[in-house]
Amino acid sequence: MGMGDNALRRYIFASDFDQTLTFNDSGYVLAELVGISTDEFERKAKGMARINLVQQGAELAYLLLHDPEFKAKVRKEHLYEVGKRIRLKDNIPLLYQILESGIDGHVFEFFVLSAAPVEVIHSALEDIVPKDHIFGTEFLYKPTGEIDTIVRATAGYGKVAVLNQLLEEHVAGPDHVIYTGDGSSDIHVMLHVNARDGLTIAVSESPHVSQIAKRTVLSTSALAVLAPILEEVAGWERFRIRGFFEANGMLIQEWERVRTDWLTVRPATIEPEEAPSVPAERGDKVHIVPSGT
Ligand SMILES: [Mg+2]
Repeated sequence: MGMGDNALRRYIFASDFDQTLTFNDSGYVLAELVGISTDEFERKAKGMARINLVQQGAELAYLLLHDPEFKAKVRKEHLYEVGKRIRLKDNIPLLYQILESGIDGHVFEFFVLSAAPVEVIHSALEDIVPKDHIFGTEFLYKPTGEIDTIVRATAGYGKVAVLNQLLEEHVAGPDHVIYTGDGSSDIHVMLHVNARDGLTIAVSESPHVSQIAKRTVLSTSALAVLAPILEEVAGWERFRIRGFFEANGMLIQEWERVRTDWLTVRPATIEPEEAPSVPAERGDKVHIVPSGT
């Protein structure tokens, strides 16, 4: 079919941004920056999520377009500033380099798919991930820097649409997709990737995603996603993975695998209350440090 070995081993590595590559949410950092109370932001965002007004994850985009306070205060330059203030997880540059240069004949193209405004991500990942590998929510601005209108929201189904476009452009099979994310905005795309035999990795204990993702990995280092990738895609054993990290100057100090089933049992005659939120204690907890420390 003209597909060489090279083409067969090409993968798309797609990552969410907020709380997957960062420790906090750009919405909170932005609210703080422009002097809107984070409680107020949270109240509005959660209220919107509850009534399913917008695609999951697009709450901030909606507020930027329609909330009088956000509309009045936020300018394009604030979004760049958020990117500089947001705290990134460790080792993103190294993760990018390793995936791009390939592992054992597998080549991974690194993309970011996020509902966050694209300016935030461009700024945060400047000199780490090329701009054309970043897909975020895009606005059009007035000459004053004020947000005028929206071009595209990369939230909910919007992530699936971008992923399909990437698959076409990069001639990868649908099973050659790895998606990693932390939260509710990732459910749609994770279900899609699972159904097409790709690999999904959750990086939080949130039951919404960790129950859907094939693997869960918890770490302060972005590099930790390599552990399930090397196991599932390259078929490596743990000792080989540890050796690979060390060859890249990093040490897996701790690697604990947790698998617990949480069951809530109640008498069948009582009406269920709101679904209990219990931590899904499942996944790999990985602690990575530079070797030689
Ligand atoms: Mg996220």
